[in-house]
Amino acid sequence: MSITDLTSMTMPEKETQARIKKILSTLQQDIPDFCFQCGKCTSGCEAMKLLELEPHKIMSLTKLGFIDELINSDIIWTCITCYKCKERCPQNVAPVEVLYSIKNLAIAAGKPVPGEYSNILQSVLLTGSIQGVKEVRTRDLEGKSRDQLGLPEAPKPTDQAKFQQVLMKAATQTLG
Ligand code: SF4
Ligand code: SF4
Repeated sequence: MSITDLTSMTMPEKETQARIKKILSTLQQDIPDFCFQCGKCTSGCEAMKLLELEPHKIMSLTKLGFIDELINSDIIWTCITCYKCKERCPQNVAPVEVLYSIKNLAIAAGKPVPGEYSNILQSVLLTGSIQGVKEVRTRDLEGKSRDQLGLPEAPKPTDQAKFQQVLMKAATQTLG
């Protein structure tokens, strides 16, 4: 769904809005209500040019309860989670945490997840890391593995089934 759908006459999703506030309060994040639309988050956002909507507008839509449009939009997947918006906010509001909550709601609603996110999730479930171990480059651009650097093998979950069970349980609890 394109963000142009925001110009429709959709009614605010009060119930979902309350759910996001509940999730944020369990994460001990200040609720979006404290946002006074100063735009400091947007002026520092690393992904602003890629986002169809700037962080302060996302906060505004969340406050108003237009969650469904956000859940159905690609914008929630464009944030690179740099946390600058959280650092810059004078009100201790964190657009990045709101975006996390909206992503969680999108997944719970069965919305498609962009391919790269699926790869990351798969990697976390299998190895506990978001990506496989990479070689580092020396100043001469020579690739060095952990083994070549005398480092032990990167740790992996010893009991993978239990690890996945605990991870999924934690994810479910966060989704509320
Ligand atoms: S910096 Fe904080 S208060 Fe200002 S618009 Fe962004 S979220 Fe709202
Ligand atoms: S965390 Fe996301 S929304 Fe916040 S500044 Fe970084 S890219 Fe922008």
